[in-house]
Amino acid sequence: MPRFSGIATMFRLPTAESSEGVDVGIIGVPLDIGTSNRTGTRYGPRQIRSESVLIRPYGMATGAAPFDSFQVADLGDVAINPYNLAASIALIENHYRDLLTQPLKPISLGGDHTITLPILRAIAKKHGTVALIHVDAHADVNDTMFGEKITHGTIFRRAIEEGLVEPGKMFQIGLRATGYAADDFDWARDKGVTVVTAEECWYKSLAPLMDSIRSNIGAEQPTYLSFDIDGLDPSVAPGTGTPEPAGLMTSQGLEIIRGCFGLNLVGADLVEVSPPYDTTGNTALMAANLVFEMLCSLPGCLRR
Ligand code: MN
Ligand code: MN
Repeated sequence: MPRFSGIATMFRLPTAESSEGVDVGIIGVPLDIGTSNRTGTRYGPRQIRSESVLIRPYGMATGAAPFDSFQVADLGDVAINPYNLAASIALIENHYRDLLTQPLKPISLGGDHTITLPILRAIAKKHGTVALIHVDAHADVNDTMFGEKITHGTIFRRAIEEGLVEPGKMFQIGLRATGYAADDFDWARDKGVTVVTAEECWYKSLAPLMDSIRSNIGAEQPTYLSFDIDGLDPSVAPGTGTPEPAGLMTSQGLEIIRGCFGLNLVGADLVEVSPPYDTTGNTALMAANLVFEMLCSLPGCLRR
């Protein structure tokens, strides 16, 4: 079958109705009512799936063979309520709690970043407090936005407050640009989070950073990876709601994800792709490739 033919499931994988017998499930969360600026991430899962048909089964640089290693299925989308964010948050958490009754690792397609909070709630219920690698232009640790406690810009403050994430094993990479106050990144730092700004990443390989993150977290600690596509530079990923200049190069994004191999990754997400602002489809294509790399970095992935 030519790559552009047939039903566009993620990586042209089989779909599955339940998580039984599935090692890794791809789940779409088409939510964009948590965004503060441009909308459109409700179309993210479909567009990422559509662009993912180009991706082939083997990683040529890493030798990774995720589809020889795991049963991977496209588990479809969470049925969110497009009129009610709070209801959607509960729907997402319940959906993941059901999925996680099986020994499954979820890789989620956003959707805006708000989806990570209910996913982390379900993950923490199963695995306890997790370590977190968070790639983003933004810290997402505001207390409130327009008086709301749950938005795409507040989720990691909630995650720390709720004990879903261990701040001493939390790493925010790629933060930059303008803030509401000059000390915006300090709330997390004061809790013990490691903040690595984009400027600290410029012109560098991030492999040494990931070496030190792996030795800090260790091989056993359940760890979650949350990748906001706006962590990448808008020249490679313009199709997003809150783009910021001078972000990570694609190669640095790959180094971060590849550098997670050796950690006990229990799940990951790729969020904030907004197809209406993605005029070439390249943002969704980058996202699909990053999701492939996430599969390759799961513990037990075979390498040649
Ligand atoms: Mn974010
Ligand atoms: Mn962001």
